[in-house]
Amino acid sequence: MSGERIRRFSEVLQSEGVDAFFGHSPITMGYLHGVHEHGGERFLTLAVRATGEVHMICPALSESQARRAGVKEVSSWRDGEDPMPLFVRLADAWDLRSGILAVDDDMPAQMLLKMQAALPTALFKPAQPLVSQLMRSKEPGELDLMRQAARIADEAWVEVRPKIQVGQSERQVAAMLYEAMAGRGGEPTFAIVATGAGSAEPHHLSDDTPLRDGDVVVIDFGCKVGGYNSDITRTVALGDPGDEARRVYDVVLEAHQAGREAARAGVECQAVDRAARRVIEAAGYGEFFVHRTGHGIGMRGHEEPFVVEGNDEALVSGNCFSVEPGIYLPGRFGVRIENIVAATEDGFESLNAEPEARLTQL
Ligand code: ZN
Ligand code: ZN
Repeated sequence: MSGERIRRFSEVLQSEGVDAFFGHSPITMGYLHGVHEHGGERFLTLAVRATGEVHMICPALSESQARRAGVKEVSSWRDGEDPMPLFVRLADAWDLRSGILAVDDDMPAQMLLKMQAALPTALFKPAQPLVSQLMRSKEPGELDLMRQAARIADEAWVEVRPKIQVGQSERQVAAMLYEAMAGRGGEPTFAIVATGAGSAEPHHLSDDTPLRDGDVVVIDFGCKVGGYNSDITRTVALGDPGDEARRVYDVVLEAHQAGREAARAGVECQAVDRAARRVIEAAGYGEFFVHRTGHGIGMRGHEEPFVVEGNDEALVSGNCFSVEPGIYLPGRFGVRIENIVAATEDGFESLNAEPEARLTQL
């Protein structure tokens, strides 16, 4: 599989006029060649030439892992040595001194600055748009892992929802979700539990705030399976939250469904955002929908394509992304509903189960 991805990636490099790619993040290198090494503060890069050649420069302590991943050409350096001469030697071998080099977005600045100083006449550019041409469209095996990760989040929700009670803290609810996901074989990645006025903050930091009677609670969480992420948001109430909360829930659910219904291979990403936003604007809450409708997801929790106004990229079959409209009334409450969907040729597949049809009162 890795050999096939390197071959397709080298075609992307050629078509974009890039001479070589320099990876750094374990996610990118793992995706392209099965190299999940993390260099930390040490210089480590998986280099891919437009012709398809692969070379790794890494600390000596990572060399055996690189070779086990099938990298045949490895230059290693020891602590106390300067790795930059290895980089320059590779650049000379690949004729890159005046080349165009695409660099992983996660390459630390201190390393990129040394690379730029070593090759002052080369042009450096961000690699993520190139990598994402491959990563954004999931292969069947990747889709299976995405479905498993989504199912574990769904099941965790079914288990934890009836246990949520007045008096528990946001952190306690988050801990229950972590345990439920881990117990099913998922690797929990995050859980945002936002109650009462905190639910009006889209990226609320969960703390010891207790859940109170009448609170709206936004719960956003996910896990990884086999390196692939899930991400789901559900909104519930404790006791009676009042009529407006129920109405806002209905509007957000309708926007969520409208966004999903707009999704299909060939449709622009911004069309999905517009379909969801239109519902919220028509209901008079447009100014309270303060973020994009969604983000791509895969080995990264947030990745391309982004479902946002201005993104005229067309969805392709196998794109996995969130549809997560929300309405946030400052100081009062918020509602967000999020499923992950995969675009198909004739529509979409929801990887998550259906959200509750009405604002559930626990
Ligand atoms: Zn989320
Ligand atoms: Zn999300």
